[in-house]
Amino acid sequence: MLAFRSRLDKAHTALVYLLIVLAGSVWGGRSLGLALTGSAFLLFNWYFLEPYNALGISNPLDWLVLVAFLIVSVVAAQLLHRERARAEETRQRAAEVDRLATLGAETLSVGRADQALNAITTVIRETLGIKECRIHQGTGGAAAGEDPLVAWAAQSGQIVRRRADGTVGVAGGTEQHLDLGLAGEGGVRALLIPLRVRDHVVGVLELGDEDLTRLDAGQRRFLTALAYYAALAVERVRLTAEADRAEVLRETDRLKDALIASVSHDLRTPLTTIKALAHDLRASGDHRAVTIEEEADRLNRLVVDLLDLSRLEAGGVPVHVELTAVDDLVGTLVQRVSGALAGRELRVTMEGDALLVGRFDLVHSLRVLVNLVENAHKYSPAGVPIDLRVAREDHTIAFAVSDRGPGIAAGQAERIFEPFYRAPGSPPDTGGAGLGLTIARRLAEAQQGSLTQETRPGGGSTFTLRLPAADLDDIEPEPS
Ligand code: ADP
Repeated sequence: MLAFRSRLDKAHTALVYLLIVLAGSVWGGRSLGLALTGSAFLLFNWYFLEPYNALGISNPLDWLVLVAFLIVSVVAAQLLHRERARAEETRQRAAEVDRLATLGAETLSVGRADQALNAITTVIRETLGIKECRIHQGTGGAAAGEDPLVAWAAQSGQIVRRRADGTVGVAGGTEQHLDLGLAGEGGVRALLIPLRVRDHVVGVLELGDEDLTRLDAGQRRFLTALAYYAALAVERVRLTAEADRAEVLRETDRLKDALIASVSHDLRTPLTTIKALAHDLRASGDHRAVTIEEEADRLNRLVVDLLDLSRLEAGGVPVHVELTAVDDLVGTLVQRVSGALAGRELRVTMEGDALLVGRFDLVHSLRVLVNLVENAHKYSPAGVPIDLRVAREDHTIAFAVSDRGPGIAAGQAERIFEPFYRAPGSPPDTGGAGLGLTIARRLAEAQQGSLTQETRPGGGSTFTLRLPAADLDDIEPEPS
């Protein structure tokens, strides 16, 4: 420009320098832009403002040109820098999102859940340049390995920093935002980050490097997102293992049912033979045959119960629900249990004047009630009557069998309906195996009814069978 200095206007010079400053800022960033601004300021003054080849200015208005040039150049360099920084941040964010999306797809699509954990540790190591990265699953000491600090981080849910000098620092953290507590720290060698899913800790992410404080804000943010992915992957591993366990349990259950069904079926034939032989022996006067017969009967009852329970569980017991008069059921029950009660009174109270009718299976309901009355007889002191109260309750008919026995201890009320459960203190000679109430409840439920137990005021217990009630209007007249 020196060659045309005489023909150049100050505006031309200023614009050319401004172009150079802008080009420099775009190419080399803010420092080059500012360096060029400074140099251009001096060169402008030295060569193109009078007096030439000196730093002074003869026309005071030229200061205006020079200062305006300086301000425009600095602002332009600064704005360009800000834009570049913003663009860089956006690029980084996009790259992070990309990596997270890839990782998400990988963690969801890997065949085995634990491979997802490997994918995440690899991404953390590679993208953040961290030397060691491990994921500890679970929160127990054993699962967390030998390091007690890992177990502590898992149990307390706090982020732990282990410094180079061996001291330890602690910071809080939530699922959304992890304050790694690295700001203002130096020489952090290891970080233990609890992995949370819906507010409970499922494992710990362990990072190790010479100095983890070098992670900048963007990398820490990325780490927060990755920690959440790791938590989800750990949870997935846990859920998969749980599903596998449940499948094994289901399979074992199926096997058990099949085994019970087959064994109980096969036991019945020899039992029939034993009974027949014992019967012959008794006829020939051998008194031991009575015991054999009684024991064979007991075993037979157990086998029948086992077979029934396994059929009920498999849904293989036919249920014939019909409109039935409650009187029929109660009448048959009284007849059926009179022998077993050995003189004990069964007091029946039918509430209401109307004829009670229900929709249930007579045979199954009878079996449930016989079982309840026999239990009441078994567990009550001799001579005390058993009460049976029958009443209509909305859409059900309730059959309440009450006794003055020992009752059921608090906390056992539901357990007595489990198979093979016998309440502690049950006399061993009652001959039961703990299947009666289980079968009774299943039979009640198979007819859309229920069976419950309550403590009876004044001592003892009340077992209530509820069956669907029917209204007499429901009964269609017989075609004549
Ligand atoms: P079991 O063949 O042992 O009688 P059940 O299934 O009929 O089996 O009953 C399970 C347990 O519930 C019994 O062992 C007993 O402890 C308790 N139980 C059942 N009925 C009564 C009752 N009327 N009074 C007290 N305890 C009872």
